[in-house]
Amino acid sequence: MSFGVGPEGLLWRDGDEAVDLSGLGGVFAQPSLNPLMAQGREAWRAATTAARGHDGPRIPLPDVDLRLAFQVADYVDFYSSLEHATNLGRMFRPDQEPLLPNWRWLPVAYHGRAGSVVVSGTDVVRPCGQRKAPDEDAPTFGPTRRLDFELELGFVVGVPTELGEAVPVEAFADHVFGLLLVNDWSARDIQAWEYVPLGPNLGKSFQTSISAWVTPLALLEDVRVAAPPQEPRPLEHLAGGRDWALDIALDVELNGETISRGNARTLYWTLPQQLAHATSNGARLRTGDLMASGTISGPEPGSEGSMIELFRGERFLEDGDELVLRGHAANGVELGSVRGRVLPARD
Ligand code: CA
Repeated sequence: MSFGVGPEGLLWRDGDEAVDLSGLGGVFAQPSLNPLMAQGREAWRAATTAARGHDGPRIPLPDVDLRLAFQVADYVDFYSSLEHATNLGRMFRPDQEPLLPNWRWLPVAYHGRAGSVVVSGTDVVRPCGQRKAPDEDAPTFGPTRRLDFELELGFVVGVPTELGEAVPVEAFADHVFGLLLVNDWSARDIQAWEYVPLGPNLGKSFQTSISAWVTPLALLEDVRVAAPPQEPRPLEHLAGGRDWALDIALDVELNGETISRGNARTLYWTLPQQLAHATSNGARLRTGDLMASGTISGPEPGSEGSMIELFRGERFLEDGDELVLRGHAANGVELGSVRGRVLPARD
């Protein structure tokens, strides 16, 4: 129940098989989802109906040659899980309040690197950078010793805006084509040294992996649930969108073992609030803009969406490790998985 892109054009995922849609021609015979995504809601609905009814060639999923499904325009990564922001605040700033004063007033975010977004299945090479442990006098340059993953829900923009135009929370579904899973690979030692005062940069920008399959937003309409309460009440331009929590069970598998189980419905800031915030200053949306939720960690032990939280900073990814993120919506729709294997740093 999602769109992907193969060598001939668009694909439709139907259970354990992919249906080749390229025979439908037009936007279906394109090497990316961008032309379809730019067309808007009516076209998305028609395309989904056409895909579901198309009797094209079928390929077993393991044999499908999947490409990056869309050209990523800009990439923004939020920080919308209360539990994750609290857990990380405690670890990165142990002598201060874990949440900074702005956190409950706006969905905090950083701008990532669109050119480093890759499709699921792409290996990640352990990045090098500056690291300085608290007990060291000066930084050194070398391979990260604290490579981590971040389990996130992402959305991709279809319909663009003009410069100066804000997208209210109510207009979210007019602009957003679909949802996907995101792994925001993170080098915690590089991040901890570089992030003050302007936020993450090289500790994140080496690679971001996304699922090959993009699920149309309309197919997740019936898993919308009420989001957790917000206190204080957000300012008027961010006050809506609270009926947009999504009941999507998430899990993380490391070398075949499940290490985390959570749910996207726990996010404090919903996706429409994120988009409304991102455009509230008039910043332009472009077809292919990717926005991710930030790491999704729940309140229960074992529902954390990163290793630094799951293992309290005592265990990180090792060379050869293979990680898979999965999402299962409450209506039975499977989000595409995000798979990646860690390769040693380059000499
Ligand atoms: Ca992140």
